[in-house]
Amino acid sequence: MNSYDAAIIGAGLGGLQCAYILAKRGMKVVVVEKGQLLGGCIQTFARRGRKFDTGFHYVGGLDDGQPLNRLFKEFGLMDLPWVRLDDDGFDEVIYGGKSYMIPSGFDNFKARMKGSFPGSAAEIDSYTDFLEGVATGIFGSFDRAGDGNMSEGSLFSRGAYDFLTSTIHDSTLQNVLSGTSPKLTLQKETLPLYTFVQINASFILSAYRLRGGGMQVADSLAASIRKFGGEVITDAEVTKLMESNGVVDTLEIANHEPITAKIIIADIHPAQFIRIAEGTSFVRNIYKRRITALQNGFGMFTANISLKPGVVKYLNRNIYIHNTDDVWTEGTQTAAEQPRCCLVSFGVPEAGEEYAQNIDLLTPMQWADVAEFAGSRVMRRPDAYNELKNRKASQLIDIASNYIPGLKDAIENVYTSTPLTYADYTGTEQGSAYGVNKDFNRLAYTLLTPLSPIPNVFFTGQNLSLHGILGVSMTSLFTCAAALKEKPGFGLFGE
Ligand SMILES: Cc1cc2nc3c(=O)[nH]c(=O)nc-3n(C[C@H](O)[C@H](O)[C@H](O)COP(=O)(O)OP(=O)(O)OC[C@H]3O[C@@H](n4cnc5c(N)ncnc54)[C@H](O)[C@@H]3O)c2cc1C
Repeated sequence: MNSYDAAIIGAGLGGLQCAYILAKRGMKVVVVEKGQLLGGCIQTFARRGRKFDTGFHYVGGLDDGQPLNRLFKEFGLMDLPWVRLDDDGFDEVIYGGKSYMIPSGFDNFKARMKGSFPGSAAEIDSYTDFLEGVATGIFGSFDRAGDGNMSEGSLFSRGAYDFLTSTIHDSTLQNVLSGTSPKLTLQKETLPLYTFVQINASFILSAYRLRGGGMQVADSLAASIRKFGGEVITDAEVTKLMESNGVVDTLEIANHEPITAKIIIADIHPAQFIRIAEGTSFVRNIYKRRITALQNGFGMFTANISLKPGVVKYLNRNIYIHNTDDVWTEGTQTAAEQPRCCLVSFGVPEAGEEYAQNIDLLTPMQWADVAEFAGSRVMRRPDAYNELKNRKASQLIDIASNYIPGLKDAIENVYTSTPLTYADYTGTEQGSAYGVNKDFNRLAYTLLTPLSPIPNVFFTGQNLSLHGILGVSMTSLFTCAAALKEKPGFGLFGE
């Protein structure tokens, strides 16, 4: 039986980053991934020669010295072909039929918002200053987070909606400031302030796409892990954790020999962890009940569209189109309704090419909308499921066509996915886009730390504190710090 210093379950962003840190420090590491591809939510898939992203459209804070830049430099990811989105509008929010550009940089952001909402100038100043304080002080959480949460303590325990509505009183402005809502699970009753502020602020710092797809991040991390002497294996589902002499050190793996490891890191949903660990003496019923009671956020319906050449001009920004008065309700929409929002995201074309080759349209979708089809197999889904997908795709295309001239005539092929597709291909629980719903009223129950009930087993990934590329990258540092019993921070990368 092969033995390792550390085994990482799941080759999502968090799992690969933890493996990178540990392997770089000279530990004997293996990453065990159940899918055929690496990357989990950031995997890229190809159809008829075109590449499409699943859960990686753009990232924030990648300029020199900014939070994600500092992290990605350490992970050796800054040489990838990053493309900076337009400074004067990296996101466009369409609300009430009007367009609002979200520019990079806090001063530009203030000026643009004040131009549209002159009566709210003082409130825009205090809102923006607050965001800037969080964005620039982000690594302060390394010093304060003794418990392994990415916590700005009080910011997690306060509601985002309460902050927004007590700082900003114009309801149109409230909606515009929340207008990139599909990036978050906006829920008035539960969303912690930190999640709202950190994610919105990090994109205002600077926003980037990656030419060629998000999977390059996973491939680059895997190549580095192998260079450091680690292993990364795919088509290898961990089915059980086993205990001997009171220590959980053995992983049973489908299609592979079992392995042993001194440290185990689980980059998987805590409910999936319970399923593989419940045979051990450490997982008590009370813990199991707590984890199985966690709620997941919405999933996504995505239409990945390949375009005929030379018809639709590439837009170096995202467009968030809203068909509702209250963007905070968009996450609760059901598939029976018209979509309340549509995110339009362009794939970066080849260098020098001014026309788009593909475009993604996304809207939130509930697991409940597809749960009845969960027993069916990919490519053999019932007609009703395929009809649902076709209906949703044409609704989104109708919405997006109002803002993308020539879109309908330019469509070559449409590939659709629902939370069921995500559950099958990216391994996410109930196809949830961002995992466990964090609730500021019930932090002790919903904000998980890297510590599991098993002393040498640790959690990482988006289900802990914060989803998204930046949140997961920071969590990787917290997880490795807990596993190595060191202080969180850049010192973890060693030489
Ligand atoms: C549609 C969508 C759009 C998004 N867009 C953006 C964006 O533009 N910008 C941004 O910052 N973030 C975005 N995100 C969020 C971001 O992609 C995720 O937060 C992040 O990639 C999650 O990484 P993770 O490490 O937590 O785990 P995951 O990506 O969930 O990976 C977990 C891995 O574990 C594997 N696994 C599960 N069970 C087992 C097992 N038993 N044995 C072995 N392997 C197992 C899975 O197959 C998977 O590969 C988006 C997400 C989605 C879904």
